[in-house]
Order: sequence, then C-alpha cells, then structure tokens
Amino acid sequence: MRRTNTFEVVPQSEEDEELLRRLLDASAALWNEINFERRERYAEPDGDVWDISEYRGRYGGVLGASTVQQIERKNREAWRSFFALQQKGEANGTPGYWGNREDGRELRTYIRNTSYSVEWGTYSRLEILVGQDLKDEYGLDRQERLRLEVRGDPSWNEYDKQGRLELYYDEYSDRFRAFQPVTIGTSRLASPLADETAALDIGANNLVACTTTTGTQLLYEGGDLFERFRKATREISRLQSKLREGRYSSNRIRSLYRRRTRRRDHAQDALARDLVERLHAEGVSTVYVGALTDVLDTHWSVEANAKTHNFWAFRAFVKRLVCTAEEYGISVEARSEAWTSQECPQCGSTERTTRHGDTLTCPCGFEGHADLTASETFLRRHQKSQISDWRTRHCVSRQQQTNVARPMARPVCLKWDDHRWSESPRSCPNEEHTNPQVASVGR
Ligand SMILES: [Zn+2]
Repeated sequence: MRRTNTFEVVPQSEEDEELLRRLLDASAALWNEINFERRERYAEPDGDVWDISEYRGRYGGVLGASTVQQIERKNREAWRSFFALQQKGEANGTPGYWGNREDGRELRTYIRNTSYSVEWGTYSRLEILVGQDLKDEYGLDRQERLRLEVRGDPSWNEYDKQGRLELYYDEYSDRFRAFQPVTIGTSRLASPLADETAALDIGANNLVACTTTTGTQLLYEGGDLFERFRKATREISRLQSKLREGRYSSNRIRSLYRRRTRRRDHAQDALARDLVERLHAEGVSTVYVGALTDVLDTHWSVEANAKTHNFWAFRAFVKRLVCTAEEYGISVEARSEAWTSQECPQCGSTERTTRHGDTLTCPCGFEGHADLTASETFLRRHQKSQISDWRTRHCVSRQQQTNVARPMARPVCLKWDDHRWSESPRSCPNEEHTNPQVASVGR
C-alpha cells in the first residue's frame, strides 16, 4: 500500500537556508534546461525528445549525481504523460518550466530514496544529499548530508520503504515543505473496533456531512475553501484572456493551477484522514457514499455543476477516502442516495420540503440542517436491518422530542485553517432547530 507523508522543513541557520535555496534553485535551473532541450527536439521534424545532453557534469557538483538523475527522470515522466494525453486528445501544452531567471524560479527538487533520511522523535530531522561543491563551500564533511529540522504530524512514522522525496518552497506561506511517498505492509494496518455504519452527504458548501449509527454527526464546512478556489479560477481566466493570440497558457497560469490543485488536495487529504480517524474511533466498519451520478444530480444544478464538480473532484475524493479507510479495515460502498436531500425525516415527504441555504423545512413542522438531515436519511435508507432499533434511539419525531431527549450527540462542526480540520468553537448552523434540547443543555 502506497501512502504519502507531508511535513514542513525548517533550516536551522541562515547558512543552511541559503544552501537549501541554492539546491532548489539549481534543480529548477536544471529542469528548465532539460525541458528547453526537449521542447527544441519536439519542435524539430525528426527530433527525439528522449535524446538529450548529459547534465551530470555541470550540475553534479551542486546537486549530486543522484539528484541530477531524479530531475531528469521527473521531466521524462512529465513528457511521457504529455504524450499519453496527446494520444487521447487531451494534451494542454508541452510540460512547463519551473519559473524563469527574471521572475524567479520555482524552488523545488526531487531526492532519490537512498539519498535522504527522515527521523521522527524529540528532534525530528531530515538529512539530504548535496553536491560536493556545495559541501566544500558551506563546510560540510565529505560524507555529511544537509541536516534540516522537520515539523508536522506524519501519518506514517513506520513504513517498509520510502520513495523519492519532493521538497519545495511554498512562497505564499513562506515555508519549505516535503512530500515523502512510503510503502506500508498490511501487517501495520488497523481493523474496525465494531460494526457500526456511517453515511456521507458530499457537497460543495459543506464538503461532507456525516451521520453514524452511533448517533454522531459531523459537518466539514467548505465555504471558505470553495470561495478561494473560485477566486483562483477567476484569476486564471483573467490571465487567459490577456494571453497573446495563439498562446494557451503561461508559467503564471500553470503555477496558479498547480497551487489551486495543491490546496484542494491538501484539504481533501486531511479531511479524509480526519474523518476516517473519527469514524474508526466510533467503531465504524462500513461507510456509504452516494453513487457519482446521484451526487451530481442531487446536489448541483446544471450551471453550478461544472464549477463545483471541478472543485470537489468527487471521484478523486472517494478514491482518497477508500485508501485512507483501507488503513483501518473500513470499507467504503457506493449506494443510491436519490432524493435523500429532499426527504423530510419526520413525515417522509419528498415534494413538500424546501431548502433555503443550509436549512431544510417541511410544512409538517420539520426544520433542520439540510446536509446533516440528508446524511441521516441516506443512512437510514440503507440501514434497514438496524432501522427499528436505530429509529427508537435516534430518529424520534419532533413531537416525541418534547418528551424524550434525542440521544443523538450535538453535531461536530469542522473548519479548515490551511493546515488541519479542527472543531469549530461555534455551534453548527441550525443546530438549535435540529436538536433543541441537547443544544440547550450544552449551553
Ligand atoms: Zn415533513
């Protein structure tokens, strides 16, 4: 099973930072040279993009031979996927440059699995190989590697094999970051603690609303994230409209795309992990998600569809979820969720309900958080065997609520702060409607 650790890398002195920056900048310069040469070959009638110069001589002293090789390999992969896309008619320009000398290069590098080591503990650290010239210049011993502090909360402290490390400088947060791919054997996996079930409602404003058979409800709010994604999208189209005729992209546009995707993927990865960890602790062994066509039909009107779909990348998210759940032995199953978002949990009507913002109301008197209610309905629908039991525990009607406190816990609201999902101190919207008694007890 392959997974990725993500962490922050912190140089311990100004000298170390300078060394690191030079390493990343030289990697970008190398990438650009290789890429330029391949573009030239590509433009020639009989050019062979795989037949390029030897760069070890010029870059080996700074980067070390293995890193030169990794950058070349990474560039080769980029061209391979370009040709694969071209064959499918989906290619969007030849591979791009990592910035340029005038406006600054994108600081990034790839380090071979045998050329670095990470150690987690009281003093967590990363040691990477640098070329002999840099070692001489900065006073490192012959066998010494550049030692950097690492911070973060790696998902995988223990693994069976590590892959090529990606190290880059994120100019917007002014931090160095690393991606470390690792391979984990099945012996390291957890198993479910009980046989509970959860159902997810996936949307754009609330990324995930979840209800479990233990009565827990979770709401991951995505409004800010979605707004930032839209802002980046607007900026991309503004830049595209200013491109010279015949040009379809620019480095600036590509870097915006990359950053937009990276931000979304980061939030999605973290969401999948946070959610699965919480569900595992609840004893969940099965998670229901809507089938793709359902999700698109039910939640998103046609005009909003393209944008939200693009933002949320539903298929990719479910894949992430499946992967993360697998680590805990939890299975993710697709089920039809048609109409669940319109159904009134109190009277069962799907025609009389109306939705305003996050609130679902019904003339029968029901009023609740629309997405949380939808996940509750979705769960109940596919939980037939346990339904009677569960209904008496959790799904009593509003009339009954005045006599019997609904045992369902107060919904947990989670917000994204660019690093992690954390419980919002504010209560969930509409909580007072869905859950009057518990909410008032909590205050
Ligand atoms: Zn109703």
